[in-house]
Amino acid sequence: MTDWSSAGFATRAIHAGQDPEPRTGAVTVPVYQTSTFAQTAVGQHRGWEYGRSGNPTRDALETALASLEGGAHGLAFSSGLAAGDAVLRTLEPGDHVLLANDVYGGTYRQFARVHEPWGLAFDPVDLADFAAVEAAWRPETRMVWIETPTNPLMNVFDIAALAEVAHRRGALAVVDNTFATPYLQQPLLLGADVVVHSTTKYLGGHSDVVGGALVTSNERLADQVRFLQNAVGAVPGPWDAWLVLRGLKTLAARMRVHCDNAHEVVAALSELDAVRQVLWPGLEDHAGHEVAERQMRDYGGMVSFRVATEAAAVRACARFEVFTLAESLGGVESLVEHPGRMTHLSVAGSPLEVPGDLVRLSVGIEDVDDLIADLRKAIA
Ligand SMILES: *Cc1c(COP(=O)(O)O)cnc(C)c1O
Repeated sequence: MTDWSSAGFATRAIHAGQDPEPRTGAVTVPVYQTSTFAQTAVGQHRGWEYGRSGNPTRDALETALASLEGGAHGLAFSSGLAAGDAVLRTLEPGDHVLLANDVYGGTYRQFARVHEPWGLAFDPVDLADFAAVEAAWRPETRMVWIETPTNPLMNVFDIAALAEVAHRRGALAVVDNTFATPYLQQPLLLGADVVVHSTTKYLGGHSDVVGGALVTSNERLADQVRFLQNAVGAVPGPWDAWLVLRGLKTLAARMRVHCDNAHEVVAALSELDAVRQVLWPGLEDHAGHEVAERQMRDYGGMVSFRVATEAAAVRACARFEVFTLAESLGGVESLVEHPGRMTHLSVAGSPLEVPGDLVRLSVGIEDVDDLIADLRKAIA
């Protein structure tokens, strides 16, 4: 396998773990659509024995992801939530986790309704408020779960500072890097221990696959999670691994357009009277702007905004034509959604409830003039 570690990001996205196939020279990693692998003698195999424990297409994806995040080990899962679940299963009953107080609704639901009933304690905290972080810390706190920028309120947290606090107290810092992608932000290089992804979003990039992954350089945790990958079995099939791998190849090119389009969409939104507030870390008046400037390459393609009322937000969501009204994000096509009634319905009534007047955009890579005309029409 060629060593691409000194190559640039876009080069690694296309080549790391993706050498031409040795037997035929196929330039693209094949989809190894097989559940089992022939052994030459009892117990003697060529590195793969059964599809749950490993598959060459999945290996290629894991190698590429590890390279892009600057970590030693990549581990692919069947969804982002399955990857997060594997990380939390490395903890024990009685352990405590500090969770960002604005996260993907499904992450909160997993903490509250799956892991807490099994004995894991957690507290949502504003991770931008260090006094609050110190105050919420318990002797049994083992992990800080960071998501930045957050879904859907676009809060930004200081990864290096939080990793430092966690390490000083003997805990691990985990970052859900789904919104930023490794193109914009590399948490492991900022001191975090684990990066979690929903590869369903920007990494896959085409709204055609559900997947997840984590990357870490922590050997012990990597061993534990690799064991869980096989022992629990929430692994991606070869086709799904291949689709994410194909998406990765264009990640750098796509992210540049997502970011450029978001800059223009934000400028257009800011001029509309019906828009009360635009939430995007690239804005100078955004509370996390300075941290974002330090830890991100650009500000990403996710933009949220608030209008006068919940009714106005719901009405606007249904009036878009270029933006598709749908959950999810990070694909080439622009999407619009109402977090309160769609992606974040599961946090209604919880401390993470999101405002009803909020609209979330996933700004795609279409011609930006078409996106802006659509926005103006829908929100006018
Ligand atoms: C979508 C999402 C997840 C969950 O990923 P799935 O692939 O849907 O399981 C986790 N975190 C964030 C930030 C997300 O946007």
